[in-house]
Amino acid sequence: MQTADRPDPSERPERALPSHAAMDQFAVRDGELVIGGVPLARLAARVGQTPFYAYDRALLARRVGELRAALPPAVRLHYAMKANPMPALVGHLAALVDGIDVASGGELKAALDAGADPREVSFAGPGKRPEELRQAVAAGVLVNLESFREVAPLAALGAELGVPARIAVRVNPDFELKSSGMKMGGGAKQFGVDAEQVPALLDEIARAGEALAFEGFHLFAGSQNLKAEAIIEAQCKSYELALRLAAHAPAPVRTLNLGGGFGIPYFPGERRLDLAPIAANLAALAARAARELPQAALVVELGRYLVGEAGVYVARVVDRKVSRGQVFLVTDGGLHHHLSASGNFGQVIRKNYPVAIGNRMADAARETASVVGPLCTPLDLLADRMTLAVADVGDLVVVYQSGAYGLSASPQGFLGHPAPVEVLV
Ligand SMILES: *Cc1c(COP(=O)(O)O)cnc(C)c1O
Repeated sequence: MQTADRPDPSERPERALPSHAAMDQFAVRDGELVIGGVPLARLAARVGQTPFYAYDRALLARRVGELRAALPPAVRLHYAMKANPMPALVGHLAALVDGIDVASGGELKAALDAGADPREVSFAGPGKRPEELRQAVAAGVLVNLESFREVAPLAALGAELGVPARIAVRVNPDFELKSSGMKMGGGAKQFGVDAEQVPALLDEIARAGEALAFEGFHLFAGSQNLKAEAIIEAQCKSYELALRLAAHAPAPVRTLNLGGGFGIPYFPGERRLDLAPIAANLAALAARAARELPQAALVVELGRYLVGEAGVYVARVVDRKVSRGQVFLVTDGGLHHHLSASGNFGQVIRKNYPVAIGNRMADAARETASVVGPLCTPLDLLADRMTLAVADVGDLVVVYQSGAYGLSASPQGFLGHPAPVEVLV
């Protein structure tokens, strides 16, 4: 008879716990992680402090190259810079992608400073302030209209500044992106204009006349999706919806932004997205668009997929404590710099990001340890009981998949600790 502690091995095959996807984008040399060609300890010395974020230029370029190779040439690739607004990184990417998507007047300035061509910048976001609309029209960027309220001021700005306000309509679709980490379209949302109200909005735009230049549609169903089928379904539905709405448009559709939502593996059991079927579907949609919307360029806008895997967050162990048998590595970094890795940026159930001891990559001795920060809150947790190389004071903890929604998405002021540094290597 089987008991709970002695299961029959034939009935319960040895199954490994779900593991993180291999973080093999960075080389390891002499037991040390190499970022942007520089071994980690040397990089820390060069940065001059811990904690820091480091983004690898070559990996950013490689990711764009992989997308270019996979996607049909007709599809335009945009970077959604809210994922990582570090100026040097935006400048690096601006030269590699076809356009930058911004979500505030501040991001608009940063994109233009980075050398982005205003004709290839688009500005989305609910609640755009009058000054932001003014900046956008004056800069000549495409404004993704998210509300009936924005029509009149944009038309007034177009007339006043003597340049038609370039607009696309952001549509809140009548479907959702399935298995998405964060839903941003479908149902009741603060983003965009409900699909069923768009014909009336297009009539208002037409009535505004020359002061508004209608250029197309923007649809963004959701974020952080690792299922190619779900992304394909959303792209097909987005295309069909845009095609229906185009019949009401005051001018031909010149740009059709199908959103993005391409995810990266953060948590145990997650695997990298399969680009090939998405690319094949986009090729089919591009072929249809060439017939059905002949002036339209298809756009995909990606944030974390472009930058997330190219970045690490590095903190130094300042104490090693054992509490009732559990090892705690206390570092100089934590949730105030990296809210996402602490599990407090939208996650429902906290899970560990991939973490390693970056200067002990080849060490055989391993143990279960938790990595925490210096804040007086139990939420300040970077790794909860993970298997890591045995680490001590002075060692460097690396949090992978940290190139997106890291520093700019974290409450740096909380508890008054020093700010981290960001480097592009
Ligand atoms: C946040 C956002 C993105 C980027 O999302 P990722 O998950 O980082 O790819 C793209 N488009 C819009 C409209 C967004 O708000």
